[in-house]
Amino acid sequence: MTNEYQIRVVPEVAAQEDRLRSWLADEYGFDVRTIYGVRILKRSIDARQRQIFVNLKVRVYVNEQPKDDEYVKTEYPNVEGRPQVIVVGAGPGGLFAALRLIELGLRPIVLERGKDVHERKKDLANITKTQKVDAESNYCFGEGGAGAYSDGKLYTRSKKRGNIEKILNVFCQHGASTAILADAHPHIGTDRLPKVIEAMRHTIINSGGEVHFQTKVVRLLYNNREPINNNRVVGVVAEQTVIGSRLTVTEKEFFGPVILATGHSARDVYRYLAEAKIEMEAKGIAVGVRLEHPSHLIDQIQYHSKQGRGKYLPAAEYAMVTQVDGRGVYSFCMCPGGFVIPAATDKEQIVVNGMSPANRGTQWSNSGMVVEVRPEDLDNVKIEKCNNVSSELKVMAFQEELEKLCWQQGNMKQTAPAQRMADFVNGRLSYDLPKSSYAPGLISSPLHFWLPKMISKRLQEGFKVFGRQAHGFLTNEAVMIAVETRTSSPLRIVRDHETLQHIRVEGLFPCGEGAGYAGGIVSAGVDGERCAEAAASYLQQLR
Ligand SMILES: Cc1cc2nc3c(=O)[nH]c(=O)nc-3n(C[C@H](O)[C@H](O)[C@H](O)COP(=O)(O)OP(=O)(O)OC[C@H]3O[C@@H](n4cnc5c(N)ncnc54)[C@H](O)[C@@H]3O)c2cc1C
Repeated sequence: MTNEYQIRVVPEVAAQEDRLRSWLADEYGFDVRTIYGVRILKRSIDARQRQIFVNLKVRVYVNEQPKDDEYVKTEYPNVEGRPQVIVVGAGPGGLFAALRLIELGLRPIVLERGKDVHERKKDLANITKTQKVDAESNYCFGEGGAGAYSDGKLYTRSKKRGNIEKILNVFCQHGASTAILADAHPHIGTDRLPKVIEAMRHTIINSGGEVHFQTKVVRLLYNNREPINNNRVVGVVAEQTVIGSRLTVTEKEFFGPVILATGHSARDVYRYLAEAKIEMEAKGIAVGVRLEHPSHLIDQIQYHSKQGRGKYLPAAEYAMVTQVDGRGVYSFCMCPGGFVIPAATDKEQIVVNGMSPANRGTQWSNSGMVVEVRPEDLDNVKIEKCNNVSSELKVMAFQEELEKLCWQQGNMKQTAPAQRMADFVNGRLSYDLPKSSYAPGLISSPLHFWLPKMISKRLQEGFKVFGRQAHGFLTNEAVMIAVETRTSSPLRIVRDHETLQHIRVEGLFPCGEGAGYAGGIVSAGVDGERCAEAAASYLQQLR
């Protein structure tokens, strides 16, 4: 017999299965020996009061063994010899598009400019060692995309539960912990993600698909090779880097409809699309800094206890939001027990972001602290890089300029400009900086002085509000690390709502975050699946 219960227990009961069994036996009048297993179906922490509770939905197996299948398995048929679809980019958008194509009986050819997820790791380590960023292999480019070395947070504001659960189940099928199906705020962790991503690649290849690394798409191919007077994309041209005794770069053509899932950092792709007159529009982003506190301080604040999280609670999360002068100021992509990382994609830039291991066990907790920036906010801002760009590239030019300025402030290395939080609010340079997780190093810098005023002023006011809401949050123990600019795509590639093809160009499916239709791992995965379905319908019509 199985029974499901919605219960509310203290953290030490929720964290230990034998304690949970005893609690359930007492509460519902079972003999504890008849409980063969307890499966947690949903879990969330209620930290609103001094006494913390964990809300659980549990399935109790009484005189019955728990079933093995904790997730819904997807079947992937063999697609060798089936019509092919080109998937550009192996981030979550591209990978989920490829897997869905296989389900639909189509053969994905995945083209990825970066390296595989393990080779890529060496280039990430090199950023700290050499202070230089490899423009093709970094925290944004390479197998797994921008989400590969991240916190692996899997929650989304999207409301389509069915689609989200499918994505979570596919992650479980490829090795993610089934805890992600239960947790209110699921996350995988940067130490576990590479194996999951590698398993997804194996599914694609074992089913007859292809995955090509160090293969950068540089042009689209049209049916009569005249992009402007033409409306159908039939493939792509890619530069393939072959590392033999000599490094060679060759051009190769790949044919099929194109799912373009190149992420928000492929600025060369945006520039190429603008030149090729593919309609795009500038969109708003959010810009600010990474704010890093000691994790015990965040635990103390959020769990209302001097002891912090204790033995049975995870590193605490927070979410802050306010409005200052008509624009949102908010925390973004919070990484409890994590690291701040250098996420630039080219040489003369500093960009910061955050990631955490599965146990969220470091001594720091960070989040992006960002201010909403709309395209019209830039009308009166002097942007040098904007001089010769079309209006749709304006927000991207603003990002680029700020990242370069930050690099200059950081001594033209990856050492990031930083300031203590209270010093920033009071307009004072920090004489020294606290220890930080940011491996390339920090340099004290007056962020209040050189960040654009529309950002620094709002951050100062926003921090005062957050300090009032959470006593102890506004403190000089926290350090601000500049600059966080890659919060979402700076433009949208305009596509048809129904067919998901570009509004004017058939056979081109702008997909995921870079196209402006997703913001995060799960929503990029959901959009990847939708684009695969749209490409399948398109191929059906052509036949
Ligand atoms: C450090 C970091 C931490 C993050 N943490 C989280 C998190 O915890 N939770 C969350 O939901 N989101 C997180 N995000 C955001 C999330 O990673 C993105 O929203 C998501 O990866 C977008 O998926 P995508 O497939 O659309 O694009 P991307 O993941 O950006 O993938 C695009 C891929 O395309 C490739 N590419 C680009 N140009 C070309 C080309 N010309 N030819 C071939 N390939 C190309 C790139 O190399 C890349 O692999 C994080 C991002 C970063 C940078």
